[in-house]
Amino acid sequence: MDKQSEAVFRSMEEHNVRFIRLWFSDVLGSLKSVAIAPGEVEGALAEGVGFDGSAIEGFARVLESDMVAHPDPSTFQILPWRNENGIATARMFCDIRMRDGSPSFADPRYVLKRAMDTAADAGFTFYVHPEIEFFLLKQLQPPVPLDSGGYFDHTMLGEGTDFRREAITTLEEMGIAVEFSHHEGAPGQHEIDLRYADALTMADNIMTFRVVVRELAISRGINATFMPKPFTQFPGSGMHSHLSLFEGDTNAFYDAADEYHLSRTARHFIAGLLRHAPEITAVTNQWVNSYKRLAAGDEAPAYVSWGRANRSALIRVPQWTPGKTSSARIEYRALDSGANPYLGYAVLLRAGLKGIEEEYPLPQEAEELVYNLSARERRAIGIEELPRNLDGALRIMENSELVADTLGEHVFDHFLRNKYAEFDDYRRQTSQWEIDRHITVM
Ligand code: GLN
Ligand code: MG
Ligand code: MG
Ligand code: MG
Repeated sequence: MDKQSEAVFRSMEEHNVRFIRLWFSDVLGSLKSVAIAPGEVEGALAEGVGFDGSAIEGFARVLESDMVAHPDPSTFQILPWRNENGIATARMFCDIRMRDGSPSFADPRYVLKRAMDTAADAGFTFYVHPEIEFFLLKQLQPPVPLDSGGYFDHTMLGEGTDFRREAITTLEEMGIAVEFSHHEGAPGQHEIDLRYADALTMADNIMTFRVVVRELAISRGINATFMPKPFTQFPGSGMHSHLSLFEGDTNAFYDAADEYHLSRTARHFIAGLLRHAPEITAVTNQWVNSYKRLAAGDEAPAYVSWGRANRSALIRVPQWTPGKTSSARIEYRALDSGANPYLGYAVLLRAGLKGIEEEYPLPQEAEELVYNLSARERRAIGIEELPRNLDGALRIMENSELVADTLGEHVFDHFLRNKYAEFDDYRRQTSQWEIDRHITVM
């Protein structure tokens, strides 16, 4: 037995773990979970646990439905909120394979692993640090914010503040380091930023984060939502992600000699993201509702541009602490809190790598607030728009070789089919806005 598996058994014994949840993600990023008994763990680590893939969103057609979840022992963690009367529950993330042992092309974790391998072939490891925004609600339907705070407010009667503290403590107990947290701009809106990790670890961490936040909300009798834009009148929930490539211990984005301290690698990476941004948007912003956030301003991007201080830009290059070269990074701001993090980071990585491979030139920085320009002015300086709705995003994605290649044929086809169906359903709805506006039409 390898070292990691031994550690699993030691920890199970030490904490009296009676339930081990095996976690994986479906194509849209919903967490799937099956609990096994301690006696099953040895077999699960050796041979995996079979399940019916055809019952999982995006996994399989019925004929090839037998799939096997292989737990990754390095992801073993106790679930701190599930520790009652001395009986503990733990979780491990799984890789999904077919009966013959080959990896499942439907597994989002495998999509990201493949993208990370492409980066490794070029000598890079991809690191990510997300700023995760979400709402705490008194009730879900209709949504009522938990508090009336604003950006950085120190909310006095702080149920939200207590909540963040409990969430952070829980995440840290699970080995997920938190860097920063605060009240966000909207009532009931909060942000927690995770300390950077390689993208695969981070995607697992984000899945865990969502579970932790939801579980803690339930235990307090409130609700949490990662919906990108639950309120028309307030800003939405983004998941701005800070991205960097490392070559061994060296940050490949840093160059002391450059006026912005950006290496050629970083410039090409940004250029790749910019050029491919429209075609990856269906993945980074996968819901009908995602586009309500992108349309609203409020520091969510709507146009394809980059800048240093410019918070309307799609990509921001933060000023890093002089001397702290390891913190050189760029911030991609379109991604929202409802994205599948495995697929989202896979397409971001491949778009950036493409820029490096093809040595795309970096367009000029957009210094003004892009929002304030007219459509003509924007076109004149060559600034494109992000897709305006899910349908538009899917039409661009459909013709993208880059996205097809990154997701693989199976996920690509399923994603398009599922998302076109979502949009079709949406476009048949008559909304309150239309009633208010048009009921008196004659
Ligand atoms: N909520 C904003 C968004 O949707 C971001 C606000 C901020 O972090 N400055 O992207
Ligand atoms: Mg932030
Ligand atoms: Mg924020
Ligand atoms: Mg940010």
